[in-house]
Amino acid sequence: MAGRSGGIPESIVEEIIARNDIVSVVGQYVRFTKTSGQNQFGLCPFHSEDTPSFSVSSSKQIFYCFGCHKGGNVIHFIMEIEKCGYLDALKILAERAQVRLPEPEDDNYRKEAELRDRVKAALVEAARYFYTNLYSNQGIAAREYLTARAISPSTAKAFGLGYAPDQWTGLLFHLHKKGYSDEVLSQCGLFTKGKKQGELIDLFRGRLMFPIFDTLGKIIAFGGRIIGDGNPKYINSPESVVYSKQRNLYGLNFAKTTKEKKMIIVEGYMDVITMHQAGVKNAVASLGTALTDRQLDLLSRYTEEVVLFYDSDNAGQAAAMRGLKMLLQRGKKYNSSASTASISVALVPDGKDPDQYIREHGADAFKKIVADAYFVLAYLLMTAEKQSTENGKLDPRTYQNLACTYLSWENNLVLREHFAAKPASILGVSVERIMQESSRIADEKQDLERQESDRILVRQVSVLPKKNDGESAGQNELVLLCLLSGMNDEYADMEDHPIPTDFSAGTMREIAAEALDLLDKKTFSPLTLIELGEDRMINGRAAKDVLSELLMRTQSVKNDDKRMQHAMDYLYQIRINIYTNHKNELARCLDLMPEGPDKSATKDSLLEVDRYLKYLREKRKES
Ligand SMILES: [Zn+2]
Repeated sequence: MAGRSGGIPESIVEEIIARNDIVSVVGQYVRFTKTSGQNQFGLCPFHSEDTPSFSVSSSKQIFYCFGCHKGGNVIHFIMEIEKCGYLDALKILAERAQVRLPEPEDDNYRKEAELRDRVKAALVEAARYFYTNLYSNQGIAAREYLTARAISPSTAKAFGLGYAPDQWTGLLFHLHKKGYSDEVLSQCGLFTKGKKQGELIDLFRGRLMFPIFDTLGKIIAFGGRIIGDGNPKYINSPESVVYSKQRNLYGLNFAKTTKEKKMIIVEGYMDVITMHQAGVKNAVASLGTALTDRQLDLLSRYTEEVVLFYDSDNAGQAAAMRGLKMLLQRGKKYNSSASTASISVALVPDGKDPDQYIREHGADAFKKIVADAYFVLAYLLMTAEKQSTENGKLDPRTYQNLACTYLSWENNLVLREHFAAKPASILGVSVERIMQESSRIADEKQDLERQESDRILVRQVSVLPKKNDGESAGQNELVLLCLLSGMNDEYADMEDHPIPTDFSAGTMREIAAEALDLLDKKTFSPLTLIELGEDRMINGRAAKDVLSELLMRTQSVKNDDKRMQHAMDYLYQIRINIYTNHKNELARCLDLMPEGPDKSATKDSLLEVDRYLKYLREKRKES
């Protein structure tokens, strides 16, 4: 195959796949809520959605998401969810299934590991460069900024702060001098390409620099705050071979060593640093995104209690609320094996940043805010009150609607009832009435979700793709292969056998030729088909994704006879397309040709093609 198992025998890879049932592996990350035939459906772990379009097939041992179109076998799933390479995914699965894995001797693997090491070394060298610059003449304004924010030199040092001078190639030249190649530098998230010649230029210019550490304290990226005027105020390294935004939290390398039970989540680097300096060391920042599921997974390795800090000014923002809904329903999306940290929300008075507040009021006042943090539901209900109050007057219609909706997000009925007491007393109705209404909203939502997911199921899964009689015939060829996968015995009895030239030249034909070979050897299955797609692209998409989708769809054809009939049908359609094109070509030539033996030979060919086309159409009608 495409040789990614580098050094690891194909038979061991097969054993690893065989001993890791995809449904149970995926089940560790996804809660299945629906079954359709041999497919399990759940909410996709790779994109955010409210109705399940992520499917796993136990019979085919593949997964596919009809929403974000990712697919593949169990190894691809692990690569995607753990953000790792092929060999690392193999390692994880080998360990899970207790298969002993020989040491990889693969060149690609070694090269990748070397690249990652070089990138990490370049990041350390960059941090030194920034640090030196902060304490040079160039860094005066940045040092003044730190003084204004009351950051002591020792704190700045502990967090490795630095300064990127306002130059286009300062860092680039420095790292060139240190012997780093453009290949390494282009991967480390510190450079961008110039608009004119596409040459590397410094990404961070005139900025205070914050190294971002992984949990082991190794630098994996940088954030930079502009010094002086300019936009944007903060920029971060893009994702790279060593950095994934969703899977890291700023300051966790420090925070994880504290003995505190709680972990505090704030918005910015400066918040973390100021709090740390004030002795509140259990704070992390979510690196410029709304808190993600993966970040919560990471946190829950170290804590059972998470306190979110919201700026009280933008507390009502829809995005923040959606984030809370996601957190409340986390347990619904994940299996119980995933940990469930309890979450509360703290508010800094007067719309201040935690950073600002702690500087003005000190650590003890701040710790009190943390201790007084609200349960998520209490916070939501308070927000509902604020959202429905105008000129000091509460609008009961808006309030009851918001309050009952927020309550409906909580699946635990005991908790729901506990918190229902507040809106009941505000509205002067019974707790029971509030519970009824919130349950109605929850049911309604569930019904809507169910209808929607049924609709998606019908539309996406059980419909065999239409035979394409237009130009882009590649789809027919792929469907043919998918229909034939696993039909090794029936294939021998097939009336007409496909040949490589039935398939479009290029990748498609390469895959087909190998597939037909496997069919002859009676080892052609959905899994071996997916493997043929490894490292290949079809119509600009990863072949494994395209193939997974079609394998899921062709799954609806179960009856063997019907399956072979469909396969024949697709084969005839493919040939009809090929010979129709051929016929048109011949007709065009004929028009241009002078009378003579060549022309009559072409006429004969045309007739022959016509006869064959007629035969194919008859056949297609039959099947
Ligand atoms: Zn998806």
